Amino acid sequence: MENIDWANLSFGYMRTDYNIRCYYRDGKWGKLELCSEETINLHMAATSLHYGQEAFEGLKAFRGKDGKIRIFRPEANAERLQSTCRGILMPELPTETFIDAVKKVVKANERFIPPYESGASLYIRPLLIGTSAQVGVHPAREYLFVVFVTPVGPYFKGGFSTNPYVIIREFDRSAPLGTGIYKVGGNYAASLRANKMAHDLGYSCEFYLDAKEKKYIDECGAANFFGIKNNTYVTPLSTSILPSITNRSLMQLAEDMGMKVERRPVPEEELTTFEEAGACGTAAVISPIQRIDDLENKKSYVISKDGKPGPVCTKLYNKLRGIQYGDEPDTHGWVTVLE
Ligand SMILES: *Cc1c(COP(=O)(O)O)cnc(C)c1O
Repeated sequence: MENIDWANLSFGYMRTDYNIRCYYRDGKWGKLELCSEETINLHMAATSLHYGQEAFEGLKAFRGKDGKIRIFRPEANAERLQSTCRGILMPELPTETFIDAVKKVVKANERFIPPYESGASLYIRPLLIGTSAQVGVHPAREYLFVVFVTPVGPYFKGGFSTNPYVIIREFDRSAPLGTGIYKVGGNYAASLRANKMAHDLGYSCEFYLDAKEKKYIDECGAANFFGIKNNTYVTPLSTSILPSITNRSLMQLAEDMGMKVERRPVPEEELTTFEEAGACGTAAVISPIQRIDDLENKKSYVISKDGKPGPVCTKLYNKLRGIQYGDEPDTHGWVTVLE
């Protein structure tokens, strides 16, 4: 694509050549179908529209210096989607079908995969929805799995940098025994007001405490939290956090670097003790945290005194990006190279 300004793409939707679809009917998954239509013809009584029977995933493909295309941990996304399916009573899509769909749709849209030098990548969005008509509250009998892709720009255009967050107590993203551990749209609907509130207050993102006690750290918007202190990577353990694949990868890399890894409830007061902290997820890998403000209690937890990302965040970020682009050896078998 000669006319795409790769380095200045935003995290938005751009039409590509194909998406891939697979239908679940009569109790079984059908064949994968490449499609060039952007729209879905959906029954107005579909369960996804009324009762939120909807799951999604997010992952990326990267073009390396060697020209090879690498997809990061697609089997982990396949497994997480299966967990979401169990959580909201949808039929599980087999891992092979998921990976096959991702590879085929990436391959079919190869001309949209940004060049290595741009720092951009191809975002992959799998979606699974209940499609059959239902008015009573029951799971659908028919489902549609779709994967589309869209090129996205480098997250840090002006270089890797820190952001301020604000604790929002007015709204909960998810309940302790709710759907927070599943990647469903409903959690995002529940987060919109908190996110708007944070933006209106001039922050980059909202910061959630656990819904029950408002005592422990849950998530930073739609990203997991981690803190660094005494050569230890600390990340919250909670029943309302989405299990981030980026976080899981960073825990492994921290361990590889000789750090201790702790996954446990993290009380808000502990924020005063971290030398560094970050929000992590597929979009940014790591978004280092400058400070977290607790407006109600008139407190500001300043994590980065000089406003710059710390050395551990920087090292973890470079290592993970290096593996994704093929600049660093893939010692854990995380990367699927497209043939
Ligand atoms: C997708 C998501 C994340 C990040 O998960 P990754 O697998 O690292 O992209 C974190 N929190 C929420 C709520 C999410 O939906």
